[in-house]
Amino acid sequence: MKLGIVGLPNVGKSTLFNSLTKAGAESANYPFCTIDPNVGVVPVPDERLQLLGDFYHSKKVTPAVIEFVDIAGLVKGASKGEGLGNQFLANIREVDAIVHVVRCFEDSNVVHVDGSIDPLRDIETINLELIFSDIEILERRIAKTSKSARNDKEAAKELELLQKLKAHLEDGKPASVFACGTEDEEEYIANYNLLTGKPVIYAANVAEEDLADDGSSNSLVEKVREYAGEQGSEVFVICAQIEQEIAELDEEEKKMFLEDLGIKQSGLEKLIQASYRLLGLISYLTSGEDETRAWTIKVGTKAPQAAGKIHTDFERGFIKAEVVNFQDLLDCGSYAGAREKGLVRMEGKDYVVKDGDVILFRFNV
Ligand code: GDP
Repeated sequence: MKLGIVGLPNVGKSTLFNSLTKAGAESANYPFCTIDPNVGVVPVPDERLQLLGDFYHSKKVTPAVIEFVDIAGLVKGASKGEGLGNQFLANIREVDAIVHVVRCFEDSNVVHVDGSIDPLRDIETINLELIFSDIEILERRIAKTSKSARNDKEAAKELELLQKLKAHLEDGKPASVFACGTEDEEEYIANYNLLTGKPVIYAANVAEEDLADDGSSNSLVEKVREYAGEQGSEVFVICAQIEQEIAELDEEEKKMFLEDLGIKQSGLEKLIQASYRLLGLISYLTSGEDETRAWTIKVGTKAPQAAGKIHTDFERGFIKAEVVNFQDLLDCGSYAGAREKGLVRMEGKDYVVKDGDVILFRFNV
């Protein structure tokens, strides 16, 4: 699962990316962290994991991870090939969701590419490039479909959809808010893999002073919230510069630092958790003396497929899953205690795994 960080130059993308990957660098279990400087593997903060690890005296605790990609270089005219634009747009096509960083901080030392701080204009600039790029995709598809549409009913239907969608984009609206008539249409559109069809989180990069009230006294942030609301997107208030400082601290120092700022959780943690949610992901847990670990699955995944995340043999030879809720287990004080109370359940191949399930899989080799 990959998220792309986009935004105009000088809005704080790299600063945000660096703090994300610095926070991630500590989990040395992921040696591929450093292969590509633009891709960072970031652990998903999850309080349950350490608690469960302590409960089992595990030697190792391994969090779930998601990938962030720093997509620099998106500028006005990118869709026309300005400044390697097309290459950056191609990078965005490969991600599952977008984190769009917008500058809401004033700092005369940091130049704005358009001369002034105006997050709505910035958002429109980037979104227009994404829209132009999508229109190009649709035009190519229209040219192809037009030929077959003459004697193929299916193709004729698709052509009609393509033209409606193109008109929608030409109105300046993203594909994500296009009203699909049928499931077929949804499937077609999903296959086009449009940039503006991807889920977006807006990260409003604010000055340190704006953190305590979550940006509500910053009118620029409020405007971003209003805009995002219309698109059904979430907004997160961060201060990239502070996040970079926080990423350098150890757990204890971090707690004190956040208290001083008047916040409970760093913006980064909130952002990572929101990204995970946005992608429809949850975690189930496995635990033992060797390792306590979180495994990422999509909401709705059944037990055998969840087991397959650990090893394909677990899926192929799946017999049953012994499942106990994380909190129930901790409340009972021991696995045996949870079992006595009937809280450890035997689940079969149709069981839909839930967030926070602690699972022991039984399987044939
Ligand atoms: P990018 O081009 O979007 O990747 O932007 P950078 O992360 O390189 O940031 C551009 C400049 O803005 C750098 O000098 C950063 O130190 C500065 N910067 C980033 N975030 C903040 C912030 O939250 N507050 C202030 N005052 N400066 C920031």
